Amino acid sequence: SVHALINAPGLKGKTVTSLSRDGLEDFVMSKNLKTQELEEPFFLLDLGTLVSLMNKWTRSLPSIQPFYAVKCNPNPAFLSALAALGASFDCASKAEIEAILALRVSADRIVFANTCKANAHIRYAASVGVNLATFDSIEEVEKIGRWHPKCALLLRIKPLLDDGVARLPLGAKFGALPEEVVPLLQAARAARLYVAGVSFHVGSVVLDSTAYRGAIAAARAVFDTATELGMAKMNILDIGGGFTAGSQFDETAAIIKAAVNTYFDSELPGLRVIAEPGRFFAETSFTLAANIIGKRVRGTLREYWINDGIYGSMNCIIHHNAPLTAIPFARTSNSVNPTCREAQTYISTVFGPTCDPLDTVLRECQLPEMQVNDLLVFPNMGAYTAASGSSFNGFKTSAIATHLVITPAIAN
Ligand code: PLP
Repeated sequence: SVHALINAPGLKGKTVTSLSRDGLEDFVMSKNLKTQELEEPFFLLDLGTLVSLMNKWTRSLPSIQPFYAVKCNPNPAFLSALAALGASFDCASKAEIEAILALRVSADRIVFANTCKANAHIRYAASVGVNLATFDSIEEVEKIGRWHPKCALLLRIKPLLDDGVARLPLGAKFGALPEEVVPLLQAARAARLYVAGVSFHVGSVVLDSTAYRGAIAAARAVFDTATELGMAKMNILDIGGGFTAGSQFDETAAIIKAAVNTYFDSELPGLRVIAEPGRFFAETSFTLAANIIGKRVRGTLREYWINDGIYGSMNCIIHHNAPLTAIPFARTSNSVNPTCREAQTYISTVFGPTCDPLDTVLRECQLPEMQVNDLLVFPNMGAYTAASGSSFNGFKTSAIATHLVITPAIAN
C-alpha cells in the first residue's frame, strides 16, 4: 500500500505530506512551503498516483514485468518508490545503472536497453553483472562480444508501422530491418553470444494500440528465424514502451495479451514477457508549479513570464510536442487564495524565463487576470520534463525541488 511505501528504503525519513484533498491547493494551504519556496518552481510527486498506476499495470498485464525506463524521469524518490513497488528497470547508460544499483536493486532487474553503447559503459555493465542488453547492429555485437561476452542479447527490431501510430516515432534511429535479422543473428552466433529474445518500441505515446499486435507478430517471426538457423531457444519478448495511463490503457493491454496468446503462448512455454514503460508511470505522478515572475498588459492581451520554460521542464513541448494545461492559482500577499475566482478571462501568452523568444510555453490561451507571484500549475508533468531540461541562462532545471505528497482520492 501507499503507507508501506513511505517506509521503503530511499523514502524512509523523507517528508511526505498526506493531503486531505486532491492537489496542490491543499499542499500550499498546508503551509509546508515557505513564501520563498513558493517563489521557485517545484514539483509535487504523488505517491498515491504511482501506487494506483502500479496496481493498474499489475491488474491489466499481470504476467508482463515492467522495466521502468529510467530516462523518462530519474527522480531519486520516484525510482526508490518504483523499486519498492517491485518494478525492474530499463537503463540506457552507466549512470542510470549506477542509480538503480544504489537502490539495492539486483542487477538481474536491469535491462541495458540502449542499442548503441559506449565501450566503457559495456565494461561497467559487465563488472556489475548487468547481463541483458539490446542491439541492432553488427558493430554492437562485436563490442559486446569483446567486452561483455556473458551478456545475453535482445535483438531490437524495427516494426513496420503506419504513419501516425505514435506521437513520437523512434524507427528512424532504432531497430533492425527485416533483411538485417539473419545477418545479425549469425553475427551473434559467430561471436558466441546468446540472443535471448527480441525487443521493439512502437513509439512514445501510442495512438493506435493495434501497432503492438503487428510488432508482436514480427517478433515471433524472428523467434522462428532463430530456430531455423539452429540457434539456442529464445525466451524473452520485450514489448518496449509507448503506454499512456489514460482510458486507452485497458484496450492496449487487451490487444497485447491477445497478441502474445496468438503468436507465442501456446507453443512457447517458459516465455518471459517484459516491457519498458516510461511515461505510463511518470507522466501523471508529477505536477509542476511555476511562479509568475513578470507581467505585461497590451490592450486586451495579457503576457506572463514564469520561472520554468522550454529550456527547463517544459522542453517536452519541443521534443515531444506535449500539450500543456495551465491551472491558474492565485495568491494574495500573505495567504493563499486557492482559485482565481474572477469569471472574466483574457487571451494570454505565457513565456519561459530565458532570453530566447522560442521560450514560449503557452500561446493564446485563456486565463483570468493573474498577478506577479501567483502560480501556474501544470498537471501531468513527469515524463521527459525535468529529465531533459538544461541550465540555459542560469535557470537550473536540476535545482527544481520535488515534494512528496499522497492524495487519498487515488491512493489505495
Ligand atoms: N525503452 C526505450 C528503449 C526507449 O527509447 C524509450 C523511450 O524513448 C522507452 C523505453 C520508454 O518509452 P515510453 O516513455 O514511451 O514508455
